[in-house]
Amino acid sequence: MKIEKLSYRLKLHTANCILTTFVFFLFSFVTKSQDTNFVRQAINQLASDNFHGRGYVNNGDAIAADYLKAFYKKEKLKKFKGDYFQSFSFSINTFPGKTILINGTDTLKPGVDFLVAGGSSGIKGFYDIVRIDKEMLDDSLKVQEFKQTNFSDVFVVVDAQGMKSEKEKKIMKSLASNPFHAKGIIMLDDGKLMWSISQKDVGYALIEVRSNVWNDSSRQIYVNIDQQLNPKHKAKNVIGYVKGTQIPDSFIVFTAHYDHLGRMGQNAVFNGANDNASGTAMLMDLIRYYKKNPPKYSIAFMAFAGEEVGLLGSKYYVENPMFEHQKIKCLLNLDLMGFGEDGITIVNSENYPDDFALFREINEKEKLLPVINKRSNAKNSDHYPFTEKNVKAFFIYTQGNSKYYHDIYDRAETVPLSKYNEIFKLITTYVATY
Ligand SMILES: [Zn+2]
Repeated sequence: MKIEKLSYRLKLHTANCILTTFVFFLFSFVTKSQDTNFVRQAINQLASDNFHGRGYVNNGDAIAADYLKAFYKKEKLKKFKGDYFQSFSFSINTFPGKTILINGTDTLKPGVDFLVAGGSSGIKGFYDIVRIDKEMLDDSLKVQEFKQTNFSDVFVVVDAQGMKSEKEKKIMKSLASNPFHAKGIIMLDDGKLMWSISQKDVGYALIEVRSNVWNDSSRQIYVNIDQQLNPKHKAKNVIGYVKGTQIPDSFIVFTAHYDHLGRMGQNAVFNGANDNASGTAMLMDLIRYYKKNPPKYSIAFMAFAGEEVGLLGSKYYVENPMFEHQKIKCLLNLDLMGFGEDGITIVNSENYPDDFALFREINEKEKLLPVINKRSNAKNSDHYPFTEKNVKAFFIYTQGNSKYYHDIYDRAETVPLSKYNEIFKLITTYVATY
């Protein structure tokens, strides 16, 4: 397909909508602010402490699933198999209670000063510490000595400061895998703390600490980490649809993962406002939009669980679909939608140059975003399992001054929704060209 044709596709749609546009124009100011209010409220809810970071402590993900189900019900979305929930299970390592780390006399703050690695074991007690740093690793005699020492009752503190080369990073990684068989490992890091979660327990305590809060003079720590591996955590995808008025057996699909990292103990909550309360809230807003503006094709809405654990919800869905994958005209995955002042990126757009050109054409015509970036496909969100089934699927994320990622600061108040209405307009205009 050529760009001229795409432009025609767009013009046709525009002509159809002159009247609607006029009415829309009259009310656009009111409608716009209402829409942002709705999405803001949804993000405030999803990213509140009551949802526990939509993870695996205090039933956070189940609370979010129930919230979405109630919304689907209120909007009277259709169900595929008699239920909005699609249930599946997976193993997950959790920290449901205490996460205490005291170095000498310094009590470190969970989430702020230190992170318990997703795969860490639980532990409780006072432990002596032995330190390894760059200088010692450069000394082969010291390394030999280390290899012969029994560390089974101590914590090894690995100071990564100054270790920046690829080779040194590799060494760091191998030290985190505990070749000493120590009771636990503390990795000192001068970068940002970024948490992730794991399906396994690695068999020793593993903690990451910001190096600037670590007192080197102390020789003992107190550590208390409650940990629990749940081998069969039950999770739910939340799925519904709006029936198309003209071609109801073909679908446009919107996806967004509603899960996030949850709590690391009771004192650190990862609210995940940008990642991905923002995309989930936009999915909800799109449901309202297509309920009010009945679409030509059917539109399916899939809120996925388990994305942060490894795209588990979307992987489960593609193996257990509600309808044949070939019926999907196009899928748009929304993740990290909270910014946009520096534009958006469309992952997998490199494989669909005509669609990418169409996005850009709409963007220029409607004067929406400063830039739309192209990107090849990547396994970085829920669109990916669909692309492996040959579905035309794109992942849209925003760019901007987003300092916070997978940390306790990704909160509702740090998400500006800078270009929310513009992105919403871009997406709905694109979908209308089908
Ligand atoms: Zn995400």
